[in-house]
Amino acid sequence: MDLASYADLAIVLVNSGHRPEGDGLRDLDGLRDLLAGRPHLGGTLRQRDLDAMRALRDQLRAVFAASAEGRGELAAERLNELLIQHPVHPQLSAHDGQDWHLHVNDGGAIPDVYAARAAMGLAVRVAEQGIDRLRVCPADGCGRVYLDTTKERSRLYCSPDCAAQAVGRAVRRGPRGEGTARTERTEPDSTAARPTGQ
Ligand SMILES: [Zn+2]
Repeated sequence: MDLASYADLAIVLVNSGHRPEGDGLRDLDGLRDLLAGRPHLGGTLRQRDLDAMRALRDQLRAVFAASAEGRGELAAERLNELLIQHPVHPQLSAHDGQDWHLHVNDGGAIPDVYAARAAMGLAVRVAEQGIDRLRVCPADGCGRVYLDTTKERSRLYCSPDCAAQAVGRAVRRGPRGEGTARTERTEPDSTAARPTGQ
């Protein structure tokens, strides 16, 4: 498994606090739903697990928030703290007919496993692509976090919905919103029609 893909755990957990249907960590059933289908994250859950997951969510959000404010060093410091608190234990695994690949923390208390994997995944992403890839969606009332993995660092919102909402708002603001409202070219490309006199 690609270790960077564990970063998804961080995003899912932080965004569980920003769902239209309510807090994903409202109770133990909410936590069970969040963990459903995740390998090595099953088993009996107790109130202390829920409390630990809520605390982890706050810590992960703080990493994204620092990055979104342009404070990359602080974001990295916070992520390093998580890596120290939740040491990573890599293991080779070859389940379900797959080739040998790396797993991280296949055993232990669920919040610890989750934290070690999420922090490791984010750290790998940051090391590969940069700390500024950790973003908080700037759309009004959103607050979800995401990773901008585009080559041009051009993903400005968490989702197409948020991007569309922001463009709609800019258009309604009129010409004063110049720059943000322009989403398409208004003039045809005329370079092809240029006379070739010289
Ligand atoms: Zn958004």
